Amino acid sequence: MAESIVLYPAPGIGHIVSMVELGKLILLHHHNPHSFSLTILLTTGSIIQTPSIDSYVHRISQSHPSISFLRLPPLSVHPSPPRSRAAMDFEFLRLNATHVASALAHISQTSNIRAFVIDLFCSSALTVGSSLGLPVYYFFTSGAAVLSAFTYFPKIHEQIDKSLKDLSVLLHFPGNPPIKSFHMVEPLLNRDDPAYWDMLYFFTQIPKSNGIIVNTFEELEPIAIKAITEGACFPDPKLAPPVFYIGPLIADSNDQEMKAKDDCLWWLEKQPSRSVVYLCFGSRGSFSVSQLKEIADALERSGQRFLWVVKRPPLDESTKQTYGTSAEFDLDSVLPSGFLERTKGRGLVVKSWAPQVEVLSKESVGGFVTHCGWNSVLEAVVAGVPMIGWPLSACGSSSVALNKLVETWKGKSC
Ligand code: UDP
Repeated sequence: MAESIVLYPAPGIGHIVSMVELGKLILLHHHNPHSFSLTILLTTGSIIQTPSIDSYVHRISQSHPSISFLRLPPLSVHPSPPRSRAAMDFEFLRLNATHVASALAHISQTSNIRAFVIDLFCSSALTVGSSLGLPVYYFFTSGAAVLSAFTYFPKIHEQIDKSLKDLSVLLHFPGNPPIKSFHMVEPLLNRDDPAYWDMLYFFTQIPKSNGIIVNTFEELEPIAIKAITEGACFPDPKLAPPVFYIGPLIADSNDQEMKAKDDCLWWLEKQPSRSVVYLCFGSRGSFSVSQLKEIADALERSGQRFLWVVKRPPLDESTKQTYGTSAEFDLDSVLPSGFLERTKGRGLVVKSWAPQVEVLSKESVGGFVTHCGWNSVLEAVVAGVPMIGWPLSACGSSSVALNKLVETWKGKSC
């Protein structure tokens, strides 16, 4: 019987692309790629993406015949009772567990599944895979510092009985600098949010896997990797699974959608070396109209060359994320009047999406303002472009932090 490996990424282009790159790496190293295949399970019905995942999947299927995609049947979660977006996304993945079980059973009829590789957010599939006797590995799409913090987090949970958003204490994670409690990732801030308990469940599952594959490399994160190697973050270091650091895996620019050789790439080629600041906040990061206007104002006054990817402002401003077909909005209505005309030639605004890996590889790009999504960070590291971090929702709660800052200013003259 032929052999296969099944990969199960979380929805979201950043998760899917890096899992596909992992698949390509496995194929490259396999001794007999002809009797071996990879199947990637994709959920149906969660986040609508721009650009479309379907066209990306189509391109990969054409260029890599050993990689096939299996769409799980559609699913939706009920909007009531009202809960956080993360809670709904996690529920969606939990509900998919039965579809995953059927898919694995189906694949194993024609091939011998050698390993099942899952994303952190797909942790409910760990028991599914284990109960079928499959070795289950995590592919951790963030870096070692985050892995260390997440695997250690259950200890913090035991030591503290309040929501982190209501505390102002320093949390100490092995291999990480101390972090303020209210700067933790958003789903970990509030115990009343079901997403908090989902995250806790994910973290307690990690040590039960057969191994953890991490998209990082030793030279980038020596301190966090040392902490993990010494077992400091696992509940029982003797039972810790092996950890493999296989990064940096970044998107292959050949697989990206190129619309008429994107205008921005032509424009970048005409700019002087290291002169352009590139601003882009991942696949979903976006700002309110008033904040977009402030950024525009700052760019205009700075006199710098810039390439700025602007997404549709979020419906709920506190989320800092946009969902849906975000290219369908009018740029003029979200930017200061006359801004595009006044900055013409010196700056370029791209609606919704730019081919980032290609952008970062251009000689003219001298800096990158990023929300610090791990793919973006690795892409900038690989391209050698300095970054300025502007964390949004998943990288620390800027809104809570801002509220605390404003509180400290109250009553003080500036
Ligand atoms: N990306 C892109 N063009 C854009 C926005 C994002 O090509 O306009 C790509 C980016 O190169 C990266 C991914 O989308 O590979 C975003 O992943 P990341 O981990 O940085 O952030 P996330 O979207 O998961 O928050």
